[in-house]
Amino acid sequence: MQERSFEHFDICIVGASIAGNYLTYLLSKSNLRIAVLEDHKKIGLPFQCAGIISQKLSQLIELPKEIVLNRVRTAKIVNPSGKSIKLFGDENPYIIDRIALDRLHYKKIKDNQNIMYYLGERYKSFEYRIENGKKYVLIETSERKIKTRMLIGCDGPLSSVGKQLNVKNDVLYASQIRTKANFNEDEAAMYFDPQWKQLFGWIVPEGNQVFRIGIAAAKNVRNCFKRYLEKLDIDIDNKIDQQGGIIPYGIMNRVAFDNILLLGDAAGQVKATTGGGIIMLLTAAKHASKCVNLCFKDGNFSKKFIKKNYEKPCSHTIGRELKLHYLIRLVLAKFKDKDFEVFFKIIKENKIERIISFYGDMDFPKTLVAKLLRNRTVLGFIFKFLVKNPVIIFKMLKLLF
Ligand SMILES: Cc1cc2nc3c(=O)[nH]c(=O)nc-3n(C[C@H](O)[C@H](O)[C@H](O)COP(=O)(O)OP(=O)(O)OC[C@H]3O[C@@H](n4cnc5c(N)ncnc54)[C@H](O)[C@@H]3O)c2cc1C
Repeated sequence: MQERSFEHFDICIVGASIAGNYLTYLLSKSNLRIAVLEDHKKIGLPFQCAGIISQKLSQLIELPKEIVLNRVRTAKIVNPSGKSIKLFGDENPYIIDRIALDRLHYKKIKDNQNIMYYLGERYKSFEYRIENGKKYVLIETSERKIKTRMLIGCDGPLSSVGKQLNVKNDVLYASQIRTKANFNEDEAAMYFDPQWKQLFGWIVPEGNQVFRIGIAAAKNVRNCFKRYLEKLDIDIDNKIDQQGGIIPYGIMNRVAFDNILLLGDAAGQVKATTGGGIIMLLTAAKHASKCVNLCFKDGNFSKKFIKKNYEKPCSHTIGRELKLHYLIRLVLAKFKDKDFEVFFKIIKENKIERIISFYGDMDFPKTLVAKLLRNRTVLGFIFKFLVKNPVIIFKMLKLLF
């Protein structure tokens, strides 16, 4: 790379979806010069989301009313034989306009003199350079070369920044349609079926009798989706539109490197139980912003410093909960039809719906899991299940130690 032709910025953020835009917004309060690279020409497009987010959203950001399209009061969980449990509680999740949410922070900062958005421009690679004892990152994009002190990868599940750092996400594939239908407008539904592997099928009410119906699976998502729609008696030809998407699956990755950090889906900050990432990444973005400001204040961009000021706070607030989501997912992924049947029966007969409704938290399941394991029948069921599936125990131990 020719040194003289470089453009200079303090920070380069790759990806202008929700993570990249929110972090840029938080950093816009500093005087740092920021370049934001986004492969797509329009922020928020393509739309790829079911858009169901817990009430924590309005504690994390200032949420304009028009972004909320609907609220749901109940969660219906359906097992492979069609039996369901219904959960009610204080939690009334938001159903959001995801395109508007992605644009919310962009609109607030797009005219800021210190911030330069390069839309329709692809990040390609980076290399480190040392000049007068200081480490820099030299970036090559599809259009230009950038010299910067910090590179931040908010470039989603297949992160190119991550790839160069040997960070790779396992992923699930999603398919969704928006369609008019006659389901309950106050209820979000989750359908489980061992044939689909990994996640589940969802029905999310957008409002005005429009529903987002989708599925995520490890493979054969097209066929799984077709069968799921048949089961729901939905004709795909009546769809309003269709979305796809990729969801990272695992626990939070390594996120701190010399002069570089990863955020959002790029960092695997996604719940393995539901594929939801928005609450996690907004929480992590606040840590990232504090860390970046400290890096510039102290002139320290080392991996050790970024680990201490970003990775550690992330581990404390979301990392442990993400591990718990993953452990729950390890168990659910091995459930057969019969296990679902028995577990649903236990939930019904022991009035566990009430415990789940009361202690259930879409994002932070620690309290609920602790309460459930205090119930002898549940504990006995889990114990027997783990004895039958020792591979889960090995995976759990590997994760914990
Ligand atoms: C079908 C589906 C349904 C979902 N439903 C929910 C839900 O209901 N609730 C919830 O909380 N979460 C949900 N999620 C997850 C949520 O959408 C993600 O966690 C969130 O979008 C992650 O945001 P991000 O900014 O980290 O990454 P992304 O949204 O993936 O954005 C990455 C950005 O980086 C850009 N980019 C990538 N590579 C480059 C490059 N080389 N150069 C320049 N730009 C690049 C991309 O164009 C993109 O704009 C869903 C995901 C899917 C796929």
